[in-house]
Amino acid sequence: MIELMRELYPIPRSLTGDGVRQTLARISQEVPLEVAEVPSGTQVFDWTTPKEWNVDEAWIAGPAGERVVDFADSSLHLLGYSVPVRTRLPLAELRERVFTHPHNPDWIPYRTSYYTENWGFCLSQRQLDSLPEGEYEVSVATRLEDGHVTYGEALIPGETEDEFLLSTYVDHPALCNDNLSGPVLLTALGQELARRGLRYSYRLLFSPATIGPLCWLWQNRDRVDRIKHGLVASCLGDPGGMTYKRSRRGDAEIDRAVAIVLRDSGRDHSILEWFPYGGDERQFNSPGFDLPVGALSRTPADKFPGYHSSGDDFDLVGAEWLEHSLQTYLAVVEALEGNRSYVNASPYGEPQLGKRGLYRSVGGGSSEEGALLWTLSLTDGSMDLLAIAQRSGLPFRAIREAADRLLEHDLLRAA
Ligand code: ZN
Repeated sequence: MIELMRELYPIPRSLTGDGVRQTLARISQEVPLEVAEVPSGTQVFDWTTPKEWNVDEAWIAGPAGERVVDFADSSLHLLGYSVPVRTRLPLAELRERVFTHPHNPDWIPYRTSYYTENWGFCLSQRQLDSLPEGEYEVSVATRLEDGHVTYGEALIPGETEDEFLLSTYVDHPALCNDNLSGPVLLTALGQELARRGLRYSYRLLFSPATIGPLCWLWQNRDRVDRIKHGLVASCLGDPGGMTYKRSRRGDAEIDRAVAIVLRDSGRDHSILEWFPYGGDERQFNSPGFDLPVGALSRTPADKFPGYHSSGDDFDLVGAEWLEHSLQTYLAVVEALEGNRSYVNASPYGEPQLGKRGLYRSVGGGSSEEGALLWTLSLTDGSMDLLAIAQRSGLPFRAIREAADRLLEHDLLRAA
């Protein structure tokens, strides 16, 4: 995941344009993607898709003619969606076009102006302070023109057409945690899922934030009832604990599955109730769709140091944190794949476990027997295995294994 991140890092991504296409093409080498393009100016629900933006070059030359800032060095240097300009101006006027980080003098901030036509540069405060008085030459060679919004998706088929949607965004330039951790995690997850036998079909969506999910929902508006569970993947490479933001429904199966997985992990984590700002879960959970899509991250965006600046780099993210995030996603997949409802087939009194060889330990009381007894006790038809794991306090895996043993002995049947 870190290696893929290093390859994707220099690609100049934005909401639209060739950087998004190059990013999807690189991911497609790992998990084949179907790429869709929605023309600029398309009415998508209450939105109109934007013009496409591409950068040929952007730089500032100092009084002596030397390049002091160059987009080629970092795609963070240019205000996203800057309109073209070629001009000369004194330092005082240039300063009005420069954004710096409010807290850290060494970080280059990440700024965009998608919906207001503007141009500008982003520098570290230290570099801005070091610029000598004099006349500067500015070249912003960008193209803001009719084109497309581009997104990519992959479907990993399972036994059923019921889908688990996994969505991430691909519009931020050189930023590791917020943004590249999401795409590299979904890529690795897609590769792993493709090797497994699955009940659900898994849809991976890589799209520019907000407008991408809106375009996808627009194109799939007659088919979204296939989505049974969903997660938005972001900020998955920093050392912080896992954070889960519930779907708008709050008690959907995905919400219960993630809560149990995080509980069973024994690690610090936090679970947040739904709120209507944040990432792409806003579109999926809008009342017209009401899809059960939560957001599973580590430290949420804007809560970790370096957020939306050059400080969100390879020093912030770690392979071990990405790997732990991947394992957490896989545990959620396993919980949902394994969650079923059963009914106790011998509900009048406890079935005699001993004669079936299900009472193995001397003196009783092993956790294995506990899982058997809890499962028999709660399979009255009103609770699925996740609910039994919740009520009993036992790990989901132990409840799933107990159910399998009881099924072998015909002590459970499908609800
Ligand atoms: Zn962001």
